[in-house]
This record gives sequence, C-alpha cells and structure tokens, in this order.
Amino acid sequence: MLEKVVIANRGEIALRILRACHELGIKTVAVYSTVDKDLLPVRLADEAICIGRAPSPESYLNIPAIITAAEITDAVAIHPGYGFLAENADFAERVEESGFIFIGPHSETIRLMGDKVSAIKAMQEAGVPCVPGSDGPLTDEDKLNLKIARKIGYPVIIKAAGGGGGRGMRVVHSEAALLSAISLTRTEANVAFGNSAVYMEKYLETPRHIEIQVLADGQGNAIHLGERDCSMQRRHQKVLEEAPAPGLTNEQRQKIGQICTDACLRINYRGAGTFEFLYQDGEFYFIEMNTRVQVEHPVTEMITGIDIVKEQLKIASGEKLSIRQEDVRLQGHAIECRINAEDPKTFLPCPGKITWYHAPGGPGIRIDSHIYSSYPVPPNYDSLIAKLIAYGNNRSEAIRRMRNALNEIVIEGIKTNIPLHQELINDANFKQGGTTIHYLEEKIKN
Ligand code: ADP
Repeated sequence: MLEKVVIANRGEIALRILRACHELGIKTVAVYSTVDKDLLPVRLADEAICIGRAPSPESYLNIPAIITAAEITDAVAIHPGYGFLAENADFAERVEESGFIFIGPHSETIRLMGDKVSAIKAMQEAGVPCVPGSDGPLTDEDKLNLKIARKIGYPVIIKAAGGGGGRGMRVVHSEAALLSAISLTRTEANVAFGNSAVYMEKYLETPRHIEIQVLADGQGNAIHLGERDCSMQRRHQKVLEEAPAPGLTNEQRQKIGQICTDACLRINYRGAGTFEFLYQDGEFYFIEMNTRVQVEHPVTEMITGIDIVKEQLKIASGEKLSIRQEDVRLQGHAIECRINAEDPKTFLPCPGKITWYHAPGGPGIRIDSHIYSSYPVPPNYDSLIAKLIAYGNNRSEAIRRMRNALNEIVIEGIKTNIPLHQELINDANFKQGGTTIHYLEEKIKN
C-alpha cells in the first residue's frame, strides 16, 4: 500500500480523501493556501504545507508548489480530488515525471478525454453510443457547417472541445442563428479554455442526465457500479443527484454498464471514472467522460457498499481490482443534496463566517463536509460547503430521511441553498422521479 499521499485539494473532498487514507493506514500531507490554514483536513492531516496565497493559481493550481510539497515530505503519491488540477493532463504528467504516483488515469488518457472531440471519437470507436453530431471539430467553412446542422436537424448545440463546468455551450434553434453562434462560442472558448475548437451536436430536448461509475485497474479488469441520475441541474450544474436512476431496468443498466467497462479495457483505463450520458426515449447518448472522482460519488457508495476513494488508492498502489462484476450488488436508494454557500433566490455566492452549525443525523444520513461552527467560508473557491446524503431501503424512504435531515440541519451566519432543497424534496414531480435536465430551471422560473 502507498505510504504517504499528498492531498492536492481542499474542502470536503480533501477531508474525504484523508479519511480513506487513514482507514488504509496511509499517512497524509495536506497542502493549503494561506486562507485555508484552519481548514479541517489541514488540522487532521499528519503533515500540512502551505503552498501559496488564496487565489487558486497561486496555490491549488500551482504545480511546482504541489510537487515540491511531495518532495519535501517524502510522499509517494498525489491525489488530485476533483476540480483544480484533477483533469489537467500536464499536471499528471509532471507528477509522473517527478517520480510520484498520480492517483488517477495515465496522463495520455486524461488528455484524450479532456478534449471532448477526441473523447467522442475514441468512444465511437469503442462502440459507445454518442449524440448525433459533427463527428469532429467544426471548420471555418460556413457552407459545410450549415450542411452539417441541416443533416443533424435543429435544434443543435455548439460546444467547446475544451469546455467544462457547464460552460462553453450554445443552443441554436434555427439556421439564421447558426453561424454567429459558432463564432461566438469559438471566441468564448478561446478566452475561457485557451482552445477555440468547437463541435456540433443534436440538442436533445427532453433528456435526463444519467452517468455510469466505473473502476478499472489498468491491468485488464474493469467493473461498473451502476448509474446515477444527475438531471436536477441549474446552468448545466448538478444540484441534487440520486442512485439508482428512477425507472431504469436492470437489463438497461447491465447493457450500458457493459459497454462502459468494455470501453475502459479498450482505452486501458486506470482508476475511477464516469461515463456521462444523456438519456432520452430509452436510449443513451455519451457526452463526456470524467477521469476523476466526482462530487456525487457518495450516492453510489451508499447503494453498493463500495468505497470509491479507497478503491482509487488501492488501484494506484498497483493492486488488481478485488471486486468482480458479479459481486456488485445495488441495494436501496440514495440521494445527495449539494449544499452551497449561496443565496437561494439569486444564486449569488454568499461567503462569510458560519456562526452556528448543527449537523443532522439518524439512520441512513451521511454528511461529507469540512465546515464547523465559526468556520469562515472564503470567497476564493467553489461555494460547495456540504454534501448531505440520505440512504433508504427504497426511494421514498430516502426522500423522507432527506426531508427530515434538511429540517434538522442548521447553518447560520451565511445564506445557503437549503431552502431550495427543501422545496425540491417536497416537489410532486421530483417525488414521482425521472424529471428531465430542464425541470429545475423551469421550476425556478415559475
Ligand atoms: P461540462 O463538461 O461543461 O459539464 P457536458 O458535455 O457534460 O459539459 O454537458 C453538461 C450538461 O449540458 C449536460 O448535463 C446537459 O444538461 C447539457 N447538454 C450537453 N450536451 C447536450 C445536448 N447535446 N443536448 C442537450 N443538452 C446537452
């Protein structure tokens, strides 16, 4: 097993990784920015090293500082978490070149999947169903682009090859708007992602977002842990997730799961990963692969009993997967609410000091969070402050437990989106299950 791991992240995911490491007897090194000196993972880690000032380019995105932290602490591996450098192929490469283990896939795999155009091509070749689209980046030839869109059929969506975090997408409903949409998205993509390549897809109008969690050891073994439904989104960002996806049959699950594990073997995938799909009229359409642990991984852990972060650490240490596909059993239902420090009406971030925090409890309740009473939420990073997870023997029990937990939790001093979750958990259409990716936006509008 790995002896010492640098946790190159902050917040709840740093704490999550720290707990998994300590459970496996692995020593931990927390790296932190000046504003994070009192962060829980910093206090709980075996060692902690300040890597720079609050702005993330000076700390959590500072590759030389993170590698130096690994060097001076004699660590053997680096866990990137999610966000920050987790899907940065150059970082993974530098980690490997510096003689450390990167806890994730090979840097070439990250590079392949980080460019959505090359990811889609690789997936098509591996037999994964994709959204009908331009099958490659768009050129500057207006005539050709108009022809492609006509063939796909409107509405279409123009997406940045290097896009992420729900940004760099534009929906086009008619031919008159196509060419300007392409050039606008191109310009934006260049500024935001340093890559002006864009591609075109059919815009699906009533899909759900369903994703498959995989684990692969890079030694010829890959399994899937079923799916998560992440259709509750605002601005293409997930708000509430659940597993399993309401209404999906076991036959559908096994079929798409097998397609994903076959694809993992074909690209020699290593580590935890997620195949994201849009699901409409009983069909799956691949949109992208995330080559890291995801925010919503706990719902899968709750229904499978498999600790995904511990599996990541074991795979990185060179162990073969010890779980076979037939050992994976999905039981019960789990829901996760992402609790953000933000105004529930305007959605503007709301950093500041948490004056009082009371965590909910009871059967089936799990909280992944780094906050505590008197914790100051800094303005510099993502607004996620806690993940509240409820497990039940079935979906309605999970919903009832989540409703109780949302009533019990107290976070004072800052505004949070708890009121939005309280409304959602009591929403008749949510209770029925299977709402589309547009449901939340429309609900908020009304
Ligand atoms: P990102 O990497 O920014 O998260 P994704 O490609 O994963 O981008 O897409 C994020 C979300 O955008 C999806 O969950 C979905 O809501 C919407 N989306 C993306 N592609 C399409 C499409 N072809 N049709 C309809 N919605 C889409």
